[in-house]
Amino acid sequence: MKPRFSIVSLTGCSGCISTLISLDIFPQFLERTKVIYFPFISDTENIEDCDIALVEGCISEQKDITYLKKVRKHAKKVFALGTCAAFGGILSLSFSKDAKPISTFIEIDGIIPGCPPPSKLFGNLLIRLVENKEINLSEKVMCANCPLRENSEVDFNQKITRINPNPDEILIGEENLECFLKKGILCLGPITREGCENKCITLGFPCEGCLGPVSKDFTANVINFLSLTNLSEDLKNYEGIFYRFSKPKLRR
Ligand code: SF4
Ligand code: SF4
Ligand code: SF4
Repeated sequence: MKPRFSIVSLTGCSGCISTLISLDIFPQFLERTKVIYFPFISDTENIEDCDIALVEGCISEQKDITYLKKVRKHAKKVFALGTCAAFGGILSLSFSKDAKPISTFIEIDGIIPGCPPPSKLFGNLLIRLVENKEINLSEKVMCANCPLRENSEVDFNQKITRINPNPDEILIGEENLECFLKKGILCLGPITREGCENKCITLGFPCEGCLGPVSKDFTANVINFLSLTNLSEDLKNYEGIFYRFSKPKLRR
Protein backbone atom coordinates (compact mmCIF):
# COMPACT_ATOMS: atom_id res chain seq x y z
CA MET A 1 0.00 0.00 0.00
CA LYS A 2 1.23 3.49 -0.81
CA PRO A 3 2.32 5.59 2.20
CA ARG A 4 -0.10 8.40 3.00
CA PHE A 5 1.43 11.88 3.33
CA SER A 6 0.19 15.19 4.70
CA ILE A 7 2.15 18.31 3.78
CA VAL A 8 1.47 21.22 6.05
CA SER A 9 2.58 24.88 6.19
CA LEU A 10 2.77 27.01 9.33
CA THR A 11 4.54 30.39 9.50
CA GLY A 12 7.17 30.59 6.78
CA CYS A 13 7.82 31.78 3.26
CA SER A 14 6.68 28.56 1.51
CA GLY A 15 10.19 28.19 0.11
CA CYS A 16 10.47 24.63 1.44
CA ILE A 17 7.20 23.56 -0.17
CA SER A 18 8.21 25.29 -3.43
CA THR A 19 11.50 23.39 -3.33
CA LEU A 20 9.61 20.14 -2.78
CA ILE A 21 7.42 20.78 -5.82
CA SER A 22 10.44 21.58 -7.98
CA LEU A 23 12.45 18.49 -7.01
CA ASP A 24 13.32 16.20 -9.94
CA ILE A 25 11.81 13.33 -8.02
CA PHE A 26 8.53 15.11 -7.19
CA PRO A 27 6.56 13.29 -9.97
CA GLN A 28 8.00 10.01 -8.68
CA PHE A 29 7.05 11.02 -5.12
CA LEU A 30 3.47 11.62 -6.25
CA GLU A 31 3.36 8.26 -8.03
CA ARG A 32 4.68 6.29 -5.07
CA THR A 33 2.59 7.95 -2.34
CA LYS A 34 -0.92 9.06 -1.60
CA VAL A 35 -0.89 12.73 -0.67
CA ILE A 36 -4.08 13.13 1.31
CA TYR A 37 -3.68 16.64 2.69
CA PHE A 38 -1.72 19.44 1.00
CA PRO A 39 -3.54 22.77 1.40
CA PHE A 40 -0.80 24.61 -0.52
CA ILE A 41 -1.99 23.05 -3.79
CA SER A 42 -5.37 21.50 -3.04
CA ASP A 43 -8.69 22.44 -1.46
CA THR A 44 -8.82 19.54 1.03
CA GLU A 45 -10.03 20.84 4.35
CA ASN A 46 -10.04 17.81 6.62
CA ILE A 47 -6.90 16.44 8.17
CA GLU A 48 -7.11 12.65 7.94
CA ASP A 49 -4.90 9.90 9.34
CA CYS A 50 -1.60 9.60 7.52
CA ASP A 51 1.72 7.80 7.78
CA ILE A 52 3.93 10.85 7.49
CA ALA A 53 3.35 14.56 7.95
CA LEU A 54 5.91 17.03 6.64
CA VAL A 55 5.56 20.33 8.45
CA GLU A 56 7.04 23.54 7.03
CA GLY A 57 7.30 26.77 9.01
CA CYS A 58 7.72 27.76 12.62
CA ILE A 59 5.21 28.35 15.38
CA SER A 60 4.50 32.04 15.78
CA GLU A 61 0.87 32.15 16.91
CA GLN A 62 -1.51 30.22 19.13
CA LYS A 63 -3.47 29.02 16.11
CA ASP A 64 -0.29 27.36 14.75
CA ILE A 65 -0.04 25.30 17.96
CA THR A 66 -3.65 24.08 17.74
CA TYR A 67 -3.20 23.18 14.08
CA LEU A 68 0.14 21.46 14.69
CA LYS A 69 -1.27 19.34 17.51
CA LYS A 70 -4.11 18.24 15.26
CA VAL A 71 -1.60 17.25 12.57
CA ARG A 72 0.45 15.30 15.14
CA LYS A 73 -2.66 13.45 16.34
CA HIS A 74 -3.40 12.21 12.83
CA ALA A 75 0.17 11.30 11.77
CA LYS A 76 2.23 8.23 12.63
CA LYS A 77 5.42 10.24 12.05
CA VAL A 78 6.06 13.97 11.84
CA PHE A 79 9.13 15.56 10.24
CA ALA A 80 10.14 19.21 10.50
CA LEU A 81 10.64 20.42 6.94
CA GLY A 82 13.17 23.23 6.71
CA THR A 83 14.97 25.36 9.19
CA CYS A 84 11.89 27.36 10.33
CA ALA A 85 10.19 24.16 11.47
CA ALA A 86 13.40 22.59 12.80
CA PHE A 87 14.97 25.56 14.61
CA GLY A 88 12.65 28.58 14.42
CA GLY A 89 14.30 29.95 11.30
CA ILE A 90 14.81 33.46 10.06
CA LEU A 91 11.72 34.74 11.93
CA SER A 92 13.59 34.05 15.18
CA LEU A 93 15.37 37.36 14.53
CA SER A 94 12.12 39.28 14.90
CA PHE A 95 11.47 41.17 18.12
CA SER A 96 7.73 41.33 17.49
CA LYS A 97 7.15 37.65 16.66
CA ASP A 98 8.01 34.73 18.88
CA ALA A 99 9.18 32.05 16.44
CA LYS A 100 9.63 28.58 17.84
CA PRO A 101 10.54 25.21 16.30
CA ILE A 102 7.69 22.70 16.12
CA SER A 103 9.51 20.36 18.52
CA THR A 104 8.71 22.87 21.29
CA PHE A 105 5.10 21.72 21.15
CA ILE A 106 5.02 18.18 19.76
CA GLU A 107 7.29 15.17 19.51
CA ILE A 108 8.89 14.89 16.11
CA ASP A 109 10.54 12.00 14.31
CA GLY A 110 13.27 13.93 12.53
CA ILE A 111 14.22 17.02 10.58
CA ILE A 112 14.94 17.87 6.95
CA PRO A 113 17.02 21.01 7.54
CA GLY A 114 17.97 23.93 5.30
CA CYS A 115 16.50 27.25 4.24
CA PRO A 116 15.26 25.78 1.98
CA PRO A 117 16.60 22.21 2.22
CA PRO A 118 19.21 21.56 -0.50
CA SER A 119 17.57 19.66 -3.37
CA LYS A 120 19.88 16.64 -3.37
CA LEU A 121 19.64 16.11 0.39
CA PHE A 122 15.89 16.74 0.32
CA GLY A 123 15.32 14.29 -2.56
CA ASN A 124 17.40 11.56 -0.90
CA LEU A 125 15.65 11.94 2.45
CA LEU A 126 12.24 12.04 0.82
CA ILE A 127 12.85 8.77 -1.02
CA ARG A 128 13.93 7.17 2.27
CA LEU A 129 10.69 8.32 3.88
CA VAL A 130 8.66 6.92 0.97
CA GLU A 131 10.49 3.60 1.45
CA ASN A 132 9.77 3.67 5.19
CA LYS A 133 13.47 3.95 6.05
CA GLU A 134 15.12 5.98 8.79
CA ILE A 135 16.57 9.30 7.72
CA ASN A 136 20.12 9.98 8.83
CA LEU A 137 21.87 13.31 8.64
CA SER A 138 25.63 13.73 8.69
CA GLU A 139 27.13 14.34 12.11
CA LYS A 140 30.01 16.27 10.56
CA VAL A 141 30.33 20.04 10.24
CA MET A 142 30.63 21.91 6.93
CA CYS A 143 34.43 22.32 7.25
CA ALA A 144 34.94 18.53 7.28
CA ASN A 145 34.52 18.24 3.52
CA CYS A 146 34.93 21.85 2.46
CA PRO A 147 37.04 22.16 -0.71
CA LEU A 148 38.68 25.27 0.75
CA ARG A 149 39.98 23.38 3.73
CA GLU A 150 42.36 21.25 1.68
CA ASN A 151 44.38 24.27 0.69
CA SER A 152 44.39 26.13 3.95
CA GLU A 153 43.76 24.90 7.45
CA VAL A 154 41.16 26.98 9.27
CA ASP A 155 43.02 29.86 10.87
CA PHE A 156 41.30 31.10 14.01
CA ASN A 157 43.88 33.82 14.69
CA GLN A 158 42.96 35.98 11.71
CA LYS A 159 40.83 38.98 12.73
CA ILE A 160 37.30 38.53 11.36
CA THR A 161 35.92 41.88 10.25
CA ARG A 162 33.35 41.09 7.53
CA ILE A 163 30.37 38.86 6.86
CA ASN A 164 30.64 38.84 3.07
CA PRO A 165 33.34 39.24 0.42
CA ASN A 166 33.38 42.47 -1.57
CA PRO A 167 31.83 42.08 -5.05
CA ASP A 168 35.27 42.09 -6.72
CA GLU A 169 36.47 39.36 -4.34
CA ILE A 170 33.72 36.83 -5.14
CA LEU A 171 35.58 33.85 -6.55
CA ILE A 172 33.70 30.84 -7.86
CA GLY A 173 34.72 27.18 -8.04
CA GLU A 174 38.42 26.54 -8.45
CA GLU A 175 39.27 30.24 -8.26
CA ASN A 176 38.02 30.21 -4.69
CA LEU A 177 40.91 28.59 -2.89
CA GLU A 178 41.22 30.11 0.54
CA CYS A 179 39.13 29.53 3.63
CA PHE A 180 36.92 32.56 4.35
CA LEU A 181 38.07 32.72 7.95
CA LYS A 182 41.62 33.08 6.70
CA LYS A 183 40.51 36.07 4.62
CA GLY A 184 38.90 37.75 7.63
CA ILE A 185 35.34 36.89 6.52
CA LEU A 186 32.99 35.14 8.93
CA CYS A 187 32.02 31.64 7.81
CA LEU A 188 29.79 29.51 10.02
CA GLY A 189 31.12 26.26 8.53
CA PRO A 190 32.74 25.19 11.82
CA ILE A 191 29.37 25.10 13.62
CA THR A 192 27.03 24.09 10.77
CA ARG A 193 25.99 20.58 9.75
CA GLU A 194 27.24 19.50 6.33
CA GLY A 195 24.72 18.29 3.75
CA CYS A 196 24.47 21.01 1.09
CA GLU A 197 27.73 20.10 -0.67
CA ASN A 198 29.15 23.44 0.48
CA LYS A 199 26.65 25.22 -1.75
CA CYS A 200 27.33 28.85 -0.83
CA ILE A 201 31.06 28.29 -0.52
CA THR A 202 31.38 26.94 -4.06
CA LEU A 203 29.40 29.98 -5.26
CA GLY A 204 31.92 32.28 -3.61
CA PHE A 205 30.09 33.09 -0.36
CA PRO A 206 30.67 31.97 3.22
CA CYS A 207 28.26 29.65 5.00
CA GLU A 208 25.53 31.46 6.97
CA GLY A 209 24.51 28.35 8.87
CA CYS A 210 21.13 27.54 7.33
CA LEU A 211 21.44 23.78 7.88
CA GLY A 212 21.70 24.41 11.60
CA PRO A 213 23.95 22.81 14.17
CA VAL A 214 25.09 19.22 14.47
CA SER A 215 24.67 19.24 18.21
CA LYS A 216 21.42 20.21 19.90
CA ASP A 217 23.42 22.51 22.12
CA PHE A 218 23.90 25.21 19.52
CA THR A 219 24.56 27.94 22.08
CA ALA A 220 27.50 26.00 23.53
CA ASN A 221 28.84 25.50 19.98
CA VAL A 222 28.60 29.23 19.28
CA ILE A 223 30.32 30.15 22.54
CA ASN A 224 33.07 27.67 21.77
CA PHE A 225 33.45 29.10 18.26
CA LEU A 226 33.46 32.65 19.62
CA SER A 227 36.17 31.77 22.09
CA LEU A 228 38.30 30.49 19.19
CA THR A 229 37.69 33.28 16.69
CA ASN A 230 39.15 36.75 16.72
CA LEU A 231 35.96 38.68 15.94
CA SER A 232 35.97 42.47 15.44
CA GLU A 233 34.00 44.55 17.97
CA ASP A 234 31.44 45.46 15.27
CA LEU A 235 30.67 41.83 14.56
CA LYS A 236 30.56 40.90 18.23
CA ASN A 237 27.72 43.41 18.61
CA TYR A 238 25.90 42.37 15.43
CA GLU A 239 22.73 40.76 16.76
CA GLY A 240 21.66 37.58 15.16
CA ILE A 241 24.87 36.95 13.30
CA PHE A 242 25.32 33.50 14.81
CA TYR A 243 21.62 32.84 15.23
CA ARG A 244 20.26 33.92 11.87
CA PHE A 245 18.23 30.74 11.72
CA SER A 246 17.68 29.83 15.35
CA LYS A 247 17.98 32.80 17.64
CA PRO A 248 17.12 32.12 21.27
CA LYS A 249 14.87 34.83 22.75
CA LEU A 250 16.67 37.40 24.84
CA ARG A 251 14.96 38.67 27.96
CA ARG A 252 14.45 42.39 27.49
S1 SF4 B 1 13.07 27.33 6.16
FE1 SF4 B 1 13.57 29.05 4.78
S2 SF4 B 1 12.66 28.44 2.81
FE2 SF4 B 1 11.68 27.15 4.40
S3 SF4 B 1 9.81 28.29 5.02
FE3 SF4 B 1 11.48 28.90 6.40
S4 SF4 B 1 12.30 30.80 5.49
FE4 SF4 B 1 11.14 29.74 3.89
S1 SF4 C 1 35.39 27.97 7.72
FE1 SF4 C 1 34.10 27.94 5.87
S2 SF4 C 1 35.52 28.26 4.13
FE2 SF4 C 1 36.74 27.65 5.93
S3 SF4 C 1 36.97 25.44 5.77
FE3 SF4 C 1 35.17 25.82 7.08
S4 SF4 C 1 33.42 25.81 5.69
FE4 SF4 C 1 35.26 26.03 4.43
S1 SF4 D 1 26.69 26.72 2.75
FE1 SF4 D 1 25.69 27.13 4.73
S2 SF4 D 1 24.20 28.77 4.33
FE2 SF4 D 1 24.81 27.88 2.34
S3 SF4 D 1 23.26 26.33 1.88
FE3 SF4 D 1 24.96 25.31 2.93
S4 SF4 D 1 24.40 25.35 5.13
FE4 SF4 D 1 23.12 26.83 4.08
